[in-house]
Amino acid sequence: MTALPLMSMRLRVAQDIFVVRQLGREVARAVGLESQDQTRMATALSEVGRVLLAAGRDTDVAFTLEPHGVPTLQVSLAHPAPGEAVRLAEQLQQVGRLVDTMEVDDDGGTGTVVRMARRLPPGAPGLTPGRMEEIRAGLARHVPGSPLDELAVQNQQLIAALDEVRAQRDDLARLNAELEETNRGVMALYHQLSEELEETNRGVVALYAELDEKSVQLRAASEAKSRFLANVSHELRAPVTAIIGLGRLLTDSASDELTDEQSRQVELIRTSASDLLTLVNGLLDLAKAEAGRIEPNWSDVDLKAMFGQLRGTLRPLATRPGVEFVVEEPTVTTMRSDEVLLAQVLRNLLTNAIKFTESGSVRLSAHPVGDDVEFVVADTGTGIPPELHERIFEEFYQVPGSRPVSGKGTGLGLPYARRLAGVLGGGLRVDSTPGEGSTFTLRLPVAS
Ligand code: ADP
Repeated sequence: MTALPLMSMRLRVAQDIFVVRQLGREVARAVGLESQDQTRMATALSEVGRVLLAAGRDTDVAFTLEPHGVPTLQVSLAHPAPGEAVRLAEQLQQVGRLVDTMEVDDDGGTGTVVRMARRLPPGAPGLTPGRMEEIRAGLARHVPGSPLDELAVQNQQLIAALDEVRAQRDDLARLNAELEETNRGVMALYHQLSEELEETNRGVVALYAELDEKSVQLRAASEAKSRFLANVSHELRAPVTAIIGLGRLLTDSASDELTDEQSRQVELIRTSASDLLTLVNGLLDLAKAEAGRIEPNWSDVDLKAMFGQLRGTLRPLATRPGVEFVVEEPTVTTMRSDEVLLAQVLRNLLTNAIKFTESGSVRLSAHPVGDDVEFVVADTGTGIPPELHERIFEEFYQVPGSRPVSGKGTGLGLPYARRLAGVLGGGLRVDSTPGEGSTFTLRLPVAS
């Protein structure tokens, strides 16, 4: 189905412009265009008609309906003067805005055609053949009014348009009032939030002040504890050493012979006293480290020699046949550090590894990492559950249920080792999986 003809007429004289205007509105109404679109179509038609008539010849106007796709009302105005297309297109530029599309073409050299189209709204009645007949019949009955009638209609349309503009202005005023109201609400909310934020900030500042005060108190308490530990352990050291000495004297071959029971009890006193001495020494060391009273004695440390010494002194402890004790050659040979403190940390870690390894290996190695050296003590012992990896660095903490394969412990070795690592400018960390083993890594700068 192609475009369906609806109506046609010829413009000859100026009065026909009123006729085509009325007809345009009628056709637009009949096919279902809304009131404003009817006026647009009528105005566009009368304007094009006026321009074409001014060019001097009769113009044929044809209304058609294009039912394909989006149904569209099309109007063509054919003027017999050729070569006018460009000039007319310029003149009609403004009018083109009243319709959806407007084209001005040379009609194959015989004249000029202006084509306009306006889409029908989605709610327009369906364009069945019956409906088309009805529209045609309606239009045929249409009797054109006089120019005065047309003026009256135009006036009514103007009044309707003015009413609409006023209604829109009222709407706009109402919207503006609402917007202002909303803005006031938002501002009030904003002020309230700002006040709440300020209040909260004041609270946070007060909390921080309290926190600062508490941390000063905490530091003072910790210093007092260290002082107390240092004093008590210092005071304990002399009598405990005396007990050990006396015990040795009592069991000496030069002393009077003791009964078996007496020897056993003296031996018990001696071992208890030496355990106590170990604890007291550990406490004293830790207290000193915590009080910041350990001053490293910096020097160029020969790691090869130190590893040799560790190998020699610790081998006697690693006597279990199923455990391989390996001190690898360090790949860094010298570094700036405190020889005694460094050896002490490594000895603590190695003793622990030996204590908690039933079979497999205990291995010490050292290699460079950037500007640092990493000392790694790795064992295949009992391992430590991940949630306790930090707790074992707390004083007196021992993994519940973990029992050294050999030797005893005080729970002070690791906290002390970590303190010393800090004093030497580095850190100590652990990686461990229960049942697989532990790896303690001491990281220190090569140059102090
Ligand atoms: P301790 O004198 O008890 O060895 P430490 O502070 O040196 O004290 O160690 C604390 C605890 O950490 C130990 O009691 C042990 O439970 C655990 N631990 C330390 N080193 C190892 C290791 N190499 N393998 C398994 N557990 C370890």
